[in-house]
Amino acid sequence: MGKPTGFKEFDRKKVPWRLPVVRINDYNEVYTEPQVEQLREQGARCMDCGVPFCQSTTGCPIDNLIPEWNDLVYNDRWQEAIERLHKTNNFPEFTGRTCPAPCEGSCVLGINNPPVTIKNIENAIVDRAWEEGWIKPQLPKTRTGKKVAIVGSGPAGLTAADQLNQAGHEVTVYERADRIGGLLQYGIPNMKLGKDVVQRRVDKMTAEGIKFVTGANVGKDIDPKELVNGNDALLLACGATKPRDLPIPNREAKGVHFAMEFLTANTMQSVHGDSLGDGFISAEGKDVIVIGGGDTGTDCIGTSLRHGCRSLVNFELLPKPPADRGADNPWPEWPRIYRVDYGHEEAAAKFGRDPREYQILSKEFLVDDEGNLCGIKTVEVKWTRSDDDGWKMTEVEGSEKEWPAQLILLAMGFLGPEQYVAESLGIEVDPRSNFEAEHGRFATSFEGVFAAGDCRRGQSLVVWAINEGRGAARAIDIFLQGSSGMPAPGVTMGTSLEIG
Ligand SMILES: Cc1cc2nc3c(=O)[nH]c(=O)nc-3n(C[C@H](O)[C@H](O)[C@H](O)COP(=O)(O)OP(=O)(O)OC[C@H]3O[C@@H](n4cnc5c(N)ncnc54)[C@H](O)[C@@H]3O)c2cc1C
Ligand code: SF4
Repeated sequence: MGKPTGFKEFDRKKVPWRLPVVRINDYNEVYTEPQVEQLREQGARCMDCGVPFCQSTTGCPIDNLIPEWNDLVYNDRWQEAIERLHKTNNFPEFTGRTCPAPCEGSCVLGINNPPVTIKNIENAIVDRAWEEGWIKPQLPKTRTGKKVAIVGSGPAGLTAADQLNQAGHEVTVYERADRIGGLLQYGIPNMKLGKDVVQRRVDKMTAEGIKFVTGANVGKDIDPKELVNGNDALLLACGATKPRDLPIPNREAKGVHFAMEFLTANTMQSVHGDSLGDGFISAEGKDVIVIGGGDTGTDCIGTSLRHGCRSLVNFELLPKPPADRGADNPWPEWPRIYRVDYGHEEAAAKFGRDPREYQILSKEFLVDDEGNLCGIKTVEVKWTRSDDDGWKMTEVEGSEKEWPAQLILLAMGFLGPEQYVAESLGIEVDPRSNFEAEHGRFATSFEGVFAAGDCRRGQSLVVWAINEGRGAARAIDIFLQGSSGMPAPGVTMGTSLEIG
C-alpha cells in the first residue's frame, strides 16, 4: 500500500480531455497528457483493501492486479507496473482508453468517496511503457509445431492469437475487412482509440510471428472446413455484427443508415485517407438524429459533430437515469447512473444543450417526393411497473411530434453474430443465435472448433473480449497439448454491464 493516509489526503482527479470546442475540429484522441504527480496521488488513494472488489467478482473481468500497480505507480516503479499489468491484460492501451471501468464502480473507496481513477492509471502505465521502449517483440522460446487458425481480428481474436503464439503455436488470423482490429479498428472512433495505437500492437504481434490475412471472408472466400483440415484447432472470434433494425414506415428512405456503416466509412476516409466517393456518409450541414444511446450512439454524435452537422438530437427509449445509485443498485454493482460521455459534452458545447431526449419512440420516417429522408415522427412514452413486476411502456396521448432530419443513424444494439460460418460448419447456436460454447471450455459442437468474444456472449465490451480470448487460448492449448501453463481468466459473470 503506497500511502496509508492517501485516501484522506487526495481527492479524485481524472486526467482531463481536450476542450470540446477544440477537439471537435479533428479526429485525434480526446485525451490530454497525464501529469505524473497527479497519477501518483491517485495511486496513493488506493487502500489496498483486504478484499479488493475492484479486481474480483463485480470488478475487472480480467482480474487486473489493480492494488499492486496502484502501489507501484505511487512508488514510481513504472516498469514493474507494466509487468504486473501485462500478466492479466494483453492490451492495456485498449482497455485504458475504452473500458467503462467496472473496477471503479466496485472500488471500496467508492462506498462513501469518489473511487480511485484506476482506468487513467492503467492507461498511463502502458503509454509510458511504449514511450520508454519497454514493450518490444518477444519471440516464443520454442515452437510446438501445432497450427491454429483464428477467424476475426477483434480484441477476442487478437488476445487469443497473442496467448497461443507465446505458447509456441503457429497462429494465422483471418479477417474479412481490409484492416486488422475488428471494432477496435472500424467501430470505436479514432477520438477514443487511435488507429496508430491499434496498429502498433498488430506490428508487434506480426514481428513475433503471427500471420494476419486481411480481405479473407471465411465462409464466403474460404471454406471453414479447409481451415479445420489444415490446422490443429480453429477459433471463431467473429463478433456480433448483426445490427438491430427499426422496421417502421419508410425505412428505405435515402438518409437512414446503420451506425456501423457511418462509423466504418468515416474511419476509412477521414482517418486513413481512403477515397470512398459515394460510399462516404456525410453529416455536414444536416439535421442529424441518432436513435439509441450507449457507446455506439455517442460515437455517432462525436463523428457527426466533426463532420459539421447543423443540429443533433439523440433519442433514447428509456427514462433518464438517476444522478446517484438507486436503492436497487447498491455498491459494488455497476452504478446505473446518468453519465456524460465525450460526444454529449461536445454536443452541449456546440449547441448549448445535451443532445439526449428520453422516452421517445420512433413511429415513422418522413420522406420527400424523391424518397429522401426529411424527418421522423415520434411519440413520447411512459414506463410503469407491470403486474408481473416487469416494466410496461405506454404511449402518451397527444405527444406526437415531427423532427426535421436529413440523416438518421440507427444505434440500437446488435442481434448476435452473422450465421454463415456457423451454418457452413453446422455448429450449434444458442437461443439468442450466438455460437453455443460454455465459458471456460469455449468448445463448440464441432470437435476442434472453439468460439470466443461477442460471437459467443453477444455484443459486450472490449475487456470481456480479452477475458474470452485468454480463456479460449487456454482451452485450445489444453486441447492441443493435454495441459496448459496459461492462467484461467475469471469466470465470474459479475458485471451485467453490456453496451449497444
Ligand atoms: C461503435 C461501437 C463502439 C464501441 N465502443 C466500446 C467501448 O468504448 N468500450 C468497450 O469496452 N466496448 C465497446 N464496444 C464493444 C466492443 O467493441 C466489442 O464488444 C468487442 O470489440 C468485441 O470483440 P470481438 O473480438 O468479439 O469482436 P469484433 O471486435 O466485432 O471483431 C470481430 C471481427 O471478425 C471479423 N469477421 C466476422 N466474420 C468474419 C468472417 N466470416 N471471416 C473473417 N472475418 C470475420 C469482423 O470483420 C471483425 O473484424 C463498441 C462497439 C461498437 C459497435
Ligand atoms: S480493464 Fe477495465 S475493469 Fe479492468 S482495470 Fe482496466 S478499466 Fe478497470
